Amino acid sequence: MYNDTIAAISTPIGEGGIGIVRLSGPEALAITSKLFTEKLADHRVVHGHVIDPNTKEIVDEVLTCYMAAPHTYTAEGVVEINCHGGPMPLQAILGLVLKHGARLANPGEFTLRAFLNGRIDLAQAESVLDIIRAKTSASLRVAMNGLEGNLSRSIKTVRTELMNTLAYLTARIDFPEDEIEEQDIVPILKDTRDKLQKIASNADQGIIYRQGVKTAIVGRRNVGKSSLLNRLLKQNRAIVSPVPGTTRDTLEEVVNIRGVPFVLVDTAGLSAHHGLVESLGVERSREAITKADFVLLVIDSSAPLRSTDRDIINILSDKSVLIAANKSDLRKRVNLDNIPNEIVYISALTGEGIDQLEGKMVEYILGGKASSCDTLLVSNPRHKACLEQAITHLNQALAAISSQMPDDFVTIDLASALNTLGEITGETVNDELLEIIFSNFCIGK
Ligand code: GDP
Repeated sequence: MYNDTIAAISTPIGEGGIGIVRLSGPEALAITSKLFTEKLADHRVVHGHVIDPNTKEIVDEVLTCYMAAPHTYTAEGVVEINCHGGPMPLQAILGLVLKHGARLANPGEFTLRAFLNGRIDLAQAESVLDIIRAKTSASLRVAMNGLEGNLSRSIKTVRTELMNTLAYLTARIDFPEDEIEEQDIVPILKDTRDKLQKIASNADQGIIYRQGVKTAIVGRRNVGKSSLLNRLLKQNRAIVSPVPGTTRDTLEEVVNIRGVPFVLVDTAGLSAHHGLVESLGVERSREAITKADFVLLVIDSSAPLRSTDRDIINILSDKSVLIAANKSDLRKRVNLDNIPNEIVYISALTGEGIDQLEGKMVEYILGGKASSCDTLLVSNPRHKACLEQAITHLNQALAAISSQMPDDFVTIDLASALNTLGEITGETVNDELLEIIFSNFCIGK
């Protein structure tokens, strides 16, 4: 437990119905009591006023909730002051709280404390951020799985088995003369490896739900890219959310297609290249394609392919590409016989074929073997990398056994596997990694 008390504004900057200043730490109650007119009781919401003790001035009318340790978000004493949601009351209350003994929280520090105090493990803490950032309801379900601890439980089961095996091997090395009942550890190691492989097997789908698919809509001028984009946005509730982390926050546009978040890259470029010479259009496409994981190439099916179409097709290289042959409401004049990519005929104007296009996009991304979101345990590339590393260590252990290496070699591999798995749940994590993970959080979370 920490001996300092942290505080921050936990609601977004800007105007809102309410805003919340949150405190966590041993002094949370004492500090609040200096500023709040009423007496607080554990896990009760109390109506009253925040008053500046020096000037006796009323700062705001608020609802305050004190939650005694350990049944709180951080497992420490927590106070949440619900005030009016404007920058002035929030800043004033935060200022008073800091003046009377709290320290401004670092990004993610509330969640970091929840982890370090043992209320949640690291994978669960990371899920908190995924919940906040969830792009579709399917993404949210996957993130909730994480917070509920489904991955953590599976990892813990495997770790326990490995620990028992390691203990057995160590005993055999340390006390060779003792009568230790002979165990065949090969099936155990194979079984744990298979379990890990199963967990990791649909990680890529989980990662897609968590991060979205970076998608570029490309094609020459006038083929109907903007019309298609508008059609996709109109049919699917779109979220436009700022992407934090860049020096100037950029906007990302997300099209939610059957739960899969397609994050559109360079949508500004869609309209911006109107009026540019064609070669610049190709350049723009090239840039968008480089940034994308998935490319939707739009061509005009009512006209023969032009050299610009071919130029763009030529730069697609090995990217995942689906071709939308647009303007299917007009007479077909295009010949796409020699194009190897999958083609869907659509009309952005009438909406014909859009459903089919969306189905293909999802199929393309999930590889036609979509798992139910509830069965996806891994959605974070960090977790996937740890799993893969642990699998490698277990395979090395098995190889060491089969080539009759001494037990010491096997124990080294087992210990490494345990260590990497511990990095998922946070048992064996170092400070540097924690700092990287929690620096992605916002202040107040
Ligand atoms: P962009 O330059 O690729 O973004 O193309 P636009 O979306 O601006 O469309 C170019 C022109 O094609 C506009 O006049 C659209 O109304 C028209 N258009 C787009 N999609 C269709 C379609 O499916 N059918 C027909 N007939 N016209 C379309």
